Amino acid sequence: KETVLKPEIEENEAFEKIEPMLDYGNIKSSKDIEVPPLLIDQVIGHEESIETIKKAAKQRRNILLIGDPGVGKSMLAKGMAQILPHESLEDILIYPNVEDNNHPLIRSVPAGEGKKIVKATKGSAKNHEEKKTLITTFVIAAIVVIGFMYGRILEAIIAAALILLISIQIKPKNNNMSPKLLVNNEDKRFAPFMDATGAHAGALLGDVRHDPYQSGGLGTPAHERVESGMIHKANKGVLYIDEIGTMTMKTQQELLSAMQEKKYAITGQSENSSGAMVRSQAVPCDFVLVASGNLQVLEGMHIAMRSRIRGYGYEVFMKDSMEDTPENRKKLVRFVAQEVKNDGRIPHFAPDALDEIILEAKRRSGKQDALTLKLRDLGGLVRSSGDVAIEKGADLVTAEHVIEAKKFSRTLEQQIADRSIKQRKEYSMVHPEGGRVGLVNGLAVIGDRSGIVSPIAAEAAPAQSKEGGKIIATGKLGEIANESVQNVSALIKKYTNKDISDYDIHVQFIQTYDGVEGDSASVSIATAVISAVEDIPIDQTVALTGSLNVRGDVMPIGGATAKIEAAAESGIKKVLIPKSNMKDVMLEKKYEDMIEIVPTETLSDVLENILISGSKKDRLIEKMRNLSSKVASKVSKS
Ligand code: ADP
Repeated sequence: KETVLKPEIEENEAFEKIEPMLDYGNIKSSKDIEVPPLLIDQVIGHEESIETIKKAAKQRRNILLIGDPGVGKSMLAKGMAQILPHESLEDILIYPNVEDNNHPLIRSVPAGEGKKIVKATKGSAKNHEEKKTLITTFVIAAIVVIGFMYGRILEAIIAAALILLISIQIKPKNNNMSPKLLVNNEDKRFAPFMDATGAHAGALLGDVRHDPYQSGGLGTPAHERVESGMIHKANKGVLYIDEIGTMTMKTQQELLSAMQEKKYAITGQSENSSGAMVRSQAVPCDFVLVASGNLQVLEGMHIAMRSRIRGYGYEVFMKDSMEDTPENRKKLVRFVAQEVKNDGRIPHFAPDALDEIILEAKRRSGKQDALTLKLRDLGGLVRSSGDVAIEKGADLVTAEHVIEAKKFSRTLEQQIADRSIKQRKEYSMVHPEGGRVGLVNGLAVIGDRSGIVSPIAAEAAPAQSKEGGKIIATGKLGEIANESVQNVSALIKKYTNKDISDYDIHVQFIQTYDGVEGDSASVSIATAVISAVEDIPIDQTVALTGSLNVRGDVMPIGGATAKIEAAAESGIKKVLIPKSNMKDVMLEKKYEDMIEIVPTETLSDVLENILISGSKKDRLIEKMRNLSSKVASKVSKS
């Protein structure tokens, strides 16, 4: 059997890799790796941030965490709750107010006491109830017996009914008196952690339920209808809010006042309900706020809130990658162990599978010598690799499983990119052959890390209007096209002796998706325009990316690896990328032989590599050469 299996395994790309990513020593699988008990110690790659959080926890300071999604912000916040000082937690009770029914009273007691108190009052109410029932039954029985004895049955029955009615009437009053437990911290090992992300005002600040029978006096007493908010449940703990900028200003204002006062009265949040009449005594809400989001979140954030955090806390910026060192690779391996443990259903990872995860973290960082810290996503790959292993009945996850899982666990954007690549092949929107004037295979990134070939077409016609030519492009492309054509108009004039303003130039993305990142299209647009103006065909087997500055230098762009892989998938043979991006390229093995990568530094490098040879091209290149040597000599003279 083995002899049959062997050649198959040898063909597998994972086994071509000879050098392991890490010296695993005695470690046979991720099972042998110790996972720290405290959540904060499980967070990897944010050592400085963790120091700040620990300091903040000691002093009970607020925190603003800024960083990309899935880098561990909520994990840090949760971790902070675990290390908050073991101040005695509290239970909070709400009592009816006999003097003013609509202003219930608040009392806080040590954690665990609250439930006992409620039970005791309920118990005494119950005792009372039992006693009452006993006495009532006895009295009614006595009356009935006496009535029989004296032959006054009718009167006896009426009297009994009256007594029964009175005893029922007494009932609610007794129940009214027992308090309700608003916040229960019984048996809590750590300070509470409340995630209030996206919570509406009522859930966040507390609410009073509407009572349709309120006016009739038959309804539920006011204090029973009071519900605590997350700010109250987070008392002595952490209140976590992601994307705080999306909360309404009013809610942020209320939150701010709760932070300042450390207590907040609960009232009905909807104005038309009977709940709005009720307002409790102030309820303790002494929480630490951990707010988070990406940089844009600051825009929607109440100014006073931000300054409150700055004044009474720390602002922390979280990285999206860490340096690729053996130390950090080890941490990544521990991350896998943590994810396996937390999931509880998938098998542990063999060293070759761990290698594969490290490799993927390297690729996803998009940079040389870095490992990604977008670990929520990477955790997804860990789990789907585990699922593949289970499906195959393996008791350890191997490299093969990880490679297979990568195929399945593609993000939505990647799936869209896959689909569009396939479609474009089918409908031949990308023609990776021959030459075409004004048509260029641009490259773009959609979503986080999915590349896509995005053809751009330019047409130049003599200007219609006397005031000069227009650049005609639609949508988001309009801005980019205008800017990049404007940017290169001087260059084009120099290179071609033609004035862009003599032409109406139409620029069009042949097919595009929202969210196509713009700047990296500027080299492509300039190339298409020059091709159109000069009537020189563009080699369709070539794709390109890069951002162009006014001097004609090709500047670096993002997502180089994904773009190249997408080009290769589409049948492109050669790709031009900014020279400064060369170090970011980490192709998957299968693409390495499919495509040639050419670094470019200037627009003339680009044109030289992408225009189809001929006398027109030669003349253009000649002119460009002269120009740049003139520039160079000018520079060296000065
Ligand atoms: P964020 O709040 O930044 O969007 P989360 O804290 O919700 O990210 O991260 C989601 C999950 O991803 C975590 O529960 C954890 O399993 C994993 N994770 C993310 N970042 C890290 C990290 N730095 N170290 C360890 N695990 C992480």
